[in-house]
Formats: sequence, C-alpha cells, structure tokens
Amino acid sequence: MPLPQRKRTVMPIPIEQEKDTPFRADEDEECCFCFKTTRFWTALPDRKGGEQVACCPPCSKLRTPSQVPSKSAWCEEARKRRPSLYPGQP
Ligand SMILES: [Zn+2]
Repeated sequence: MPLPQRKRTVMPIPIEQEKDTPFRADEDEECCFCFKTTRFWTALPDRKGGEQVACCPPCSKLRTPSQVPSKSAWCEEARKRRPSLYPGQP
C-alpha cells in the first residue's frame, strides 16, 4: 500500500533487479531514460507486471515515477533505436 504523501518531495522510482533469468548480456534492456543497458526494472505500484519498463539505478534516483514512460512508448523508442532487434516491425 502506498503511503499517503503529505508534501511534494522528489520521490525516487522504485526499481528491482530482474529475477529468475540467467545472465545474458545480449538480453539486457535499455533504461527508459538514458538507454544504457540495465537489468533493473521499475517496480511501480500502480503498474501491472507487464507494464513495467527498464530503469537503471542512477536514473531511478534522478527521476520521479510520473516521468516514467508508458510501456508502449518505451518499446516504440527502443524499436527506433535498435531496429535490428525487431525484424519485421515498422
Ligand atoms: Zn538510466
């Protein structure tokens, strides 16, 4: 349960390390802010599991949850940046 917010402070983005997957460097996802590869994902309480996006620890401290892009926006950006990873997609 999220705690009630009494004042507006910069709240870091909750993240968690990707679990249950053997480490494979080529499967790292790109942080939704800086596009460095990371194995950390957002753990936003108001998003379902499939709607979380990759977010590296440094960016999670600099940004706020309201700045996290939607999953679809993030996927679209990732496709634009690395089209070779998404063959057959526009
Ligand atoms: Zn980042």
